[in-house]
Amino acid sequence: MTDVVDLVSQLIRIPSVNPRGRAEPAETPLAEFVADWARRHGMTADLHEVLDGRYNVVVTVPGDSADTILLETHLDTVETEGMTVPPFEPTIRDGLLYGRGSCDAKGPLAVFLTAMAELAAGGPRPHTVTLAGVVDEEHIYRGVLALRDQGINPVGAVIGEPTSLRMVTAHKGCMRCRITARGPGGHSSEPWGKTNPITTAARIVDYLADEYAPALDAKARPLVGPPSLAVTMIDGGSGPNVLPESTTLTIDRRTVAGEDPHQVWGELRDELLRRWPEGVDVAEPHIVDYALETDPEDPFVRSVASVLAGAGHNPEAKGVGHGTDASKIALDGVPCVVFGPGAIAQAHTPAEFVPLDELHAARKVVGELLRSPVLDTKGAQAR
Ligand SMILES: [Zn+2]
Repeated sequence: MTDVVDLVSQLIRIPSVNPRGRAEPAETPLAEFVADWARRHGMTADLHEVLDGRYNVVVTVPGDSADTILLETHLDTVETEGMTVPPFEPTIRDGLLYGRGSCDAKGPLAVFLTAMAELAAGGPRPHTVTLAGVVDEEHIYRGVLALRDQGINPVGAVIGEPTSLRMVTAHKGCMRCRITARGPGGHSSEPWGKTNPITTAARIVDYLADEYAPALDAKARPLVGPPSLAVTMIDGGSGPNVLPESTTLTIDRRTVAGEDPHQVWGELRDELLRRWPEGVDVAEPHIVDYALETDPEDPFVRSVASVLAGAGHNPEAKGVGHGTDASKIALDGVPCVVFGPGAIAQAHTPAEFVPLDELHAARKVVGELLRSPVLDTKGAQAR
């Protein structure tokens, strides 16, 4: 059996730093390694170009049923500047494996690959298992969006991210937009009769903080709490003696399940334009992420919980603050859980690490899950 620690170490040695806006095939050597490793371990593997010579890797082990379990995680990591451990030279100290991506998300990737290799080697294979290692999760999610376009329709998905072995089923979404107040401008010594956009913006800020945001409490969800709104940037004025012609606010609106971000934006815009019919406009929203809330009664989710409980881990569903690829996959109605070794508190840090015992534990949980004939696509009896 391939040692999961050994494989994470090999993955860390292959840099895959997200190039952000630059056109660089950053994850390609890692995608090629994963495809080659998978083929050498009896699996089929394909590369799918997403952009700029950057590829998602898709690995499959066919099972007795065409019903597919999707294991999804990302190939890219964040930058390495300021790291206090060697980013690409895996180091083990006191039961912890250090290196960029060790917990986010090469640990989960190695867990998935080694569990699938064991499946490919023999024994019961109740389901087809597909692993997707995608690009660009740390930037604007183009890898998972391309994966959705491929039309994979699994009965359930495990998204590999550091969750300290907890089963995460909910997180918030995020919508941002800019609100601009306008006025005629002019000399500040003659302000009479002129709309000052800074004054308008101040009133909008008061309205958002005192009326709009508190009303969001009524929409609280059990695992993630209420939606929120914060004014995060304000920009206006050009000189101490000039009436500004415009002032722009940026808002960050965190959404919960049941809220469509475009609808949230439309309602906010309508309300602001009703209150300030002139001199205010609300720009198109930027949808940063969608909210995730997986039904805890879904058979796949109960299967994961059951395997966790059987292995002596906490099977309770958990909500987290940060977004993942799960929210995009869930848009197609796929029940998604986020699971993996290592803590989100270590992700993106100067001394990123993953505990070895959690790697082994996660490997056991995923292996057990892939062996369990528990799913029914009709949503009927789970074990
Ligand atoms: Zn991640």
